[in-house]
Amino acid sequence: MDYFHQRRRFLQQFGQVAIAVPGLSLLSDQVLGLAGNQDKKLGIALIGLGQYSEEQLAPALQETQSCKLVAIVTGTPDKVSKWQRKYDIADKNVYNYQNFDSIKNNPEVDIVYVVLPNSMHAEYTIRAAKAGKHVICEKPMATSVKDCEAMIKACKDAGKMLSIGYRLHFEPHNMTIAKFGKEKVHGKITKVRAIDSQEMEAGVWRLDRKRSGGGPVMDLGVYCVQGSIYAMGINPVGVTAKEGPKTDKEKFPDVEQSMEFTLDFPGGASSYCTTSYADKGNLLRVEAEKGWYELSPAYGYSGIAGKSSLDKIDFKQVNQQALQMDDFASCVKNRRPTRVPGEMGMRDVKILMAIYESARTGKKVPLRLG
Ligand code: NAD
Repeated sequence: MDYFHQRRRFLQQFGQVAIAVPGLSLLSDQVLGLAGNQDKKLGIALIGLGQYSEEQLAPALQETQSCKLVAIVTGTPDKVSKWQRKYDIADKNVYNYQNFDSIKNNPEVDIVYVVLPNSMHAEYTIRAAKAGKHVICEKPMATSVKDCEAMIKACKDAGKMLSIGYRLHFEPHNMTIAKFGKEKVHGKITKVRAIDSQEMEAGVWRLDRKRSGGGPVMDLGVYCVQGSIYAMGINPVGVTAKEGPKTDKEKFPDVEQSMEFTLDFPGGASSYCTTSYADKGNLLRVEAEKGWYELSPAYGYSGIAGKSSLDKIDFKQVNQQALQMDDFASCVKNRRPTRVPGEMGMRDVKILMAIYESARTGKKVPLRLG
């Protein structure tokens, strides 16, 4: 697909941008990730064939212009033949966790996409980088800042790019909120409210601290952190957190059931955040000097809806994961930095760790994020 066709496809996907948000149509080609298109599709290996890979990423890969699902890495042999048949994956491109490192000898694989439980992100990102592959790693980047540092270093040492699966950076409603925050389109932001809560079933790895690193804070709270930061257009300088009561002690022996936290920003504004595994909620609401605007739901794969006392925030739904992966392919091809780099993932893990520290100590934790 040539540059002009690709540009037209983006404009179709961001079709209502110009109508709904004056100024956003000026998003440059570079911001949209269109610069320097080349035709070669990059080969992707998915590692971890769970729900997100099966229901979102693999189907989204079929919608990409610049990527192709060529390999799978799984510890569950039963899954292999179904995936091979469905996505036409060659026998030589099927790996398990033991022989994964031999992927270095496979020139068809350009990018490894890590879609494993959180505590395994660091190991497989580092092994992928050492195998000479670029990496997309799911959120949260890792379960410690030390692991994030090691992941960034491994990719740098290997000369490979690292990006985090922050799909909402390719979603027009959320990116409109980000534009408003960055450019203070509606004046200074005075307050943000972010909620991401989902009921969690019992017995899953997300409730096992060793594998998840924590409860809803790690899994969903990271969206509140992300949303707060792009809504404000600046990094926070401090956090205060309080764990909610455990109404279901049997389900949550190991991780928090819910957390309330407040991110303080330079200039005195705050973002008030709630995340829970025993409730439902999905909101990013911003109050600015000239009015308010909100997304509810804000963080889903689709169905994102805007309301505002100001401009209408209303765009066609897009395939976020397809855009995210195509953008990374373009970054790799053109050696262009990704808008969702490992450094952003590490910044967020620092904040997640500070949330837990504040909940533990009962004190405000200062953040020095630059
Ligand atoms: P899942 O439980 O459905 O899948 C996890 C996969 O890891 C399974 O295939 C499982 O077999 C494999 N696995 C290997 N070792 C394991 C172990 N020791 N314990 C448990 N599973 C093991 O989980 P998921 O929902 O696909 O989430 C995977 C990752 O993707 C997580 O980091 C999650 O945060 C992230 N995710 C991101 C989004 C997003 O919107 N960006 C959405 C869902 C999940």
